[in-house]
Amino acid sequence: MKVFAVRGKFENKFGESIMSDKPEYFIDENGLRLDGRRTDEIRPMTMEMGVLSRADGSCYLEWGNNKVIAAVYGPRELHPRRLQRPSEVLVRYRYNMAAFSVEDRIRPGPSRRSTEISKVSGEAFEPVVMTQYYPGAVIDVFAEVLQADAGTRTAAINAATLALADAGIPMKGLVAACAVGKVDGQLVLDLNKPEDNYGDADLPVAMTQDGEITLLQMDGNLTHEEFIKAMEMVKKGCDQIFELQRKTLISRFGSEDDVEALEGSIETEPEEEEAEELSEEEVPSEKEDVSDTGDNAEDVDDSGEKFKEDVADFDEQRESGSDEEDKTSDEDVKDEEDEASDEDVKGEEDEQ
Ligand code: UDP
Repeated sequence: MKVFAVRGKFENKFGESIMSDKPEYFIDENGLRLDGRRTDEIRPMTMEMGVLSRADGSCYLEWGNNKVIAAVYGPRELHPRRLQRPSEVLVRYRYNMAAFSVEDRIRPGPSRRSTEISKVSGEAFEPVVMTQYYPGAVIDVFAEVLQADAGTRTAAINAATLALADAGIPMKGLVAACAVGKVDGQLVLDLNKPEDNYGDADLPVAMTQDGEITLLQMDGNLTHEEFIKAMEMVKKGCDQIFELQRKTLISRFGSEDDVEALEGSIETEPEEEEAEELSEEEVPSEKEDVSDTGDNAEDVDDSGEKFKEDVADFDEQRESGSDEEDKTSDEDVKDEEDEASDEDVKGEEDEQ
């Protein structure tokens, strides 16, 4: 397909003036976009789970020209202790773009954009992760963008969902994410880079399998009617992604029966009172249901047992130990080190 472009200085959505090729149009006379897709079509997506041996769970995802890897560590004890949540696990999410992931090298380290994306993406998992099972612990999710071509926050969420499942984290269901936007006065699903950079609107959305919206951001303007239609389009896009995630789970964990068992074990959430009554012995069995279907069942089970023991030791120490004893414990030394290093990092950021 012949694409006309105007070479010149344009202000991109980040307010930077850049030399770029702004397409003359985004949708041709046949209703096809610059990359040949229809307006309601998502880019080809492939996902592979269990790609990192040192992470508890991982997933590599390619979506169009986006390449993203997600790694999950935990649940593990959270240091410094003051960050611990007494009745639930803390889910920490870090989104990062590699310096080489875009045409113009990105300055390494956290930025305002990555901090914002990390915050809202972590929150996108709140309704599905069954946080009551690991009080005081942390689950770390790292999403690394290796190659970016618009829609990286949504790509990262799709990969992170499967990395969490790969780690055997009890979840009520999956989360899928996709963006919708507007170019040439028409709504388009899953924006590519020119559509994202020069389009009239960009609306990334994440949702659960029940259609509960867990992330919604918007750049640009849409009318009320356009917004309603955009949400319908994005729902269809997310449904396709759920199907791809389901297939990836099948290829990771074996047969369709296994995945049904997996979904069965993660779908139902105990009533609030029931959850409180759950003894720690019952927790790993939830995890076993999930991990038994995987190739790395043994590894995950071991870590579950180990975690249970760690938590028991930790509780025992907390109950029996006085403040003075606590101060001399290794864990507190580690706490202080962690706090010191937190401050160092903050200091460095401030300097920057
Ligand atoms: N981008 C870039 N430099 C940046 C940030 C983003 O070139 O510092 C590009 C990158 O390709 C990204 C796209 O702009 O995928 C759109 O960025 P946006 O902030 O909309 O996030 P995304 O759509 O990737 O979630």
